[in-house]
Amino acid sequence: MINVETIRHSLSHIMAHVVQELYPGTKFGIGPAIENGFYYDFEFKNPLTNEDLPKIENKMRELIKERVLFNKKLISKNSAKKIFSKQPYKLELIKELPGQKVSIYESGKFIDLCKGPHVKSTLQLHSGQAKEIIDSFKLTRIAGAYWKGSEKNKMLTRIYGVAFMSKKELEQYLQLQEEAEKRDHRVLGQKLDLFSISDEVGAGLVIFHPKGAVIRSVIEDFWKKEHKKRGYHYVYSPHIGKLDLWKKSGHWEFYRESLYSPIEIEGVQYLLKPMNCPFHLQVYKSKIRSYKDLSIRYCELGTVYRFEKAGTLHGLLRVRGFTQDDAHIFCMPNQINKEVEGVLDLACFMLNTFGFSNFEVELSVRDPKNKTKYLGSDEIWKKAENALEYSLNQKGSKYRRAEGEAVFYGPKIDIKLIDALGRGWQGPTIQVDFNLPEKFDLNYIDEKGRKERVVMIHHTVLGSVERFIGNLLEHYAGALPLWLAPIQIWIIPLGSRHEDYAKKVEEELLKENPDLRIEIKDENETVSKKIRNGEIQKIPYLAVVGDEEIKEKAVRIRSKNKDLGMIKIDKFLEKVNSEIKEKR
Ligand code: ZN
Repeated sequence: MINVETIRHSLSHIMAHVVQELYPGTKFGIGPAIENGFYYDFEFKNPLTNEDLPKIENKMRELIKERVLFNKKLISKNSAKKIFSKQPYKLELIKELPGQKVSIYESGKFIDLCKGPHVKSTLQLHSGQAKEIIDSFKLTRIAGAYWKGSEKNKMLTRIYGVAFMSKKELEQYLQLQEEAEKRDHRVLGQKLDLFSISDEVGAGLVIFHPKGAVIRSVIEDFWKKEHKKRGYHYVYSPHIGKLDLWKKSGHWEFYRESLYSPIEIEGVQYLLKPMNCPFHLQVYKSKIRSYKDLSIRYCELGTVYRFEKAGTLHGLLRVRGFTQDDAHIFCMPNQINKEVEGVLDLACFMLNTFGFSNFEVELSVRDPKNKTKYLGSDEIWKKAENALEYSLNQKGSKYRRAEGEAVFYGPKIDIKLIDALGRGWQGPTIQVDFNLPEKFDLNYIDEKGRKERVVMIHHTVLGSVERFIGNLLEHYAGALPLWLAPIQIWIIPLGSRHEDYAKKVEEELLKENPDLRIEIKDENETVSKKIRNGEIQKIPYLAVVGDEEIKEKAVRIRSKNKDLGMIKIDKFLEKVNSEIKEKR
């Protein structure tokens, strides 16, 4: 049985074969199989565009029908250098390969430096009849890619393709991609006027526009309320702190690559904060704490700054400045289980309320073979790992144990949310930390008056506010539930003589619920155009008013592209209020 990676990799050779014929003089980089497909990097004499892809794809299909055979050969480096004498990238690879011999693959008129494996031929013969075996593919796009991924090297042209074992799988994948494109939060963010990322400000730095800011503040208010209910105290901390603080915490040593360069102020080095923890522990440290005071829980929506490579930035999902919905619990070792269970409850409650009901849970522990990578003693690590495992078992959660995935200061639980398209997004994390208390000498006084080391638990339940908003937009394809929608109701007067009534409806609704977000659409446009715009803008309720509605003290409601008919103002208000209250 041939596996799909082999097919994908063989298709990249077939593509290169076609490129060699169509565009003589092209230089070849590498062409591996990747998740869902394959790519090949080329240096073209004249640049290609996406419009060139169908031509290449058609030629590939013709070639496949010719039953191209793949032959592997082991040859000396010297003969390889002769074969690839006009291919500088291949020559560079040959030089780097260990040993005296290299393996090449011949498929038709195309020869590539390659370890394989490959299919034997592009067509398999089945009892005398030819059956295509590598035809479930499609070339998808062209992108720039640096040779060997380094910005110091030349930018090559990468052609991507997708390939699957069957046509059905390919179609399913392409459909999912199409749906995902429609839901792309970057597109929705612009269409719905929610946020922007401006070149003038800098890459990866998000500006929330008024409507996006409404979504964000509704999420943040709800988040604060739920934390307060569970005994958390809100704190505020600054955006910079002395470099020495980060040296002491270990962040400077372990995360230097993702930190911004220090800023000098009065001869002292400061760092933009990548984390909130060292600030929160200062609050704990500001007093002597007794066992009677524990647990103590602090929370903050703290904006942190981390350096991400330009090529990895992606809308709200991958940024350089983001707001962690951060919290730190200070407790005694025998309180860890209870605290972690509490956090798991909070995380599930929050995610469920936002409409996510499927999760993937991962418990990240140390790599037992590489213990020097981590801070803290063996005993301390065992304690922490057991506590997380115990809490997951208590909750009856299914989880995957990931060895070697822990951060340097402690083990963690990561929860991925699964969205409407079945895609996983990074969500809550819970980390037990025995190390920061050690470094910053954080104590409590026990029953017998002895000084004991406190335990710190870090957690977020949304992950990052920016990323979470991106997830929500894609999950709901922009049509957020009423309680989150930046504008909840548009009142649309049929004609100018209905505008006074529209204002009266607005007043009446706001008198009963001042938090409602309403707009009157009295612009000089046709009613049908306003309705169409309301639907494009994903406004949950469009309330049309005319003569009949005035007579009946009512509004005519359209919601989610459906006409719900005429409804009395008080009834409509009741419906809206209960929907918001129940966060449906
Ligand atoms: Zn922390």
